[in-house]
Amino acid sequence: MTRARAQRFMRVRIAVIAAVIMLAAVYGLWRLSALPCFQLVGEVHCRVETDQPMVALTFDDGPVAPGVEMVLPILAEHGAPATFFLVGQAMERNPGLARRLLDAGHELGNHSYSHAHLLGHLPSRYRQEVGDTDALLRVEGEEHPRLFRPPYGKRLIGLPMAVRDADYITVMWDVEEAYGETDPQRYADFILGQVRPGSIVLMHPMFGHREVISKALPIILDGLAERGLQPVTVSQLLSLEGKSSDE
Ligand SMILES: [Zn+2]
Repeated sequence: MTRARAQRFMRVRIAVIAAVIMLAAVYGLWRLSALPCFQLVGEVHCRVETDQPMVALTFDDGPVAPGVEMVLPILAEHGAPATFFLVGQAMERNPGLARRLLDAGHELGNHSYSHAHLLGHLPSRYRQEVGDTDALLRVEGEEHPRLFRPPYGKRLIGLPMAVRDADYITVMWDVEEAYGETDPQRYADFILGQVRPGSIVLMHPMFGHREVISKALPIILDGLAERGLQPVTVSQLLSLEGKSSDE
């Protein structure tokens, strides 16, 4: 090999290695941004370590009237409080719905203002996403909103910093619904097969899964009762952290 050829070969090799390292770093950050129980900055909870037989049902997105009207009577019938993570933009479009959830005894959390992917933005954008929805939650009557759930569960550093600075904590989940499942029994069984004391369950009753949840939610609530698991709000669940039943 001539010297020039060897140098060219070396340059290509370095470029390929650099590209692989870059791709691995981007992939690593992408995976890191979606970890449910770990985040680089601030407090995050994906479940609560407790032997008390309690779980938190959480409902993301909206509010929209058809979702609220579907879910409220089912929860009321089963005496089950829940936590709703609401989007600021939807609260503005549908004033009064958040207050109805509160009046029915449920808890409200902050699910950003725009529900965009909140990665790679300026700090001011994160502050606005958290702050605008915080203000709307307070107008609707949630006196001390402090639970934040990132859209798509994605966050790295900037968003968690804004969440922490606004005196919020991040709430993720350890039990997820079966996306795309249309059979209510199978949708319910998928969740009931995963829940255990301290679980935080994620469901989407406002849009995509509204139909199936309208039939699956009663099955889920009956199934929890059969297992002796009591639904509570996320805040109630968090207050059990580290407490055992014999205390
Ligand atoms: Zn969402």
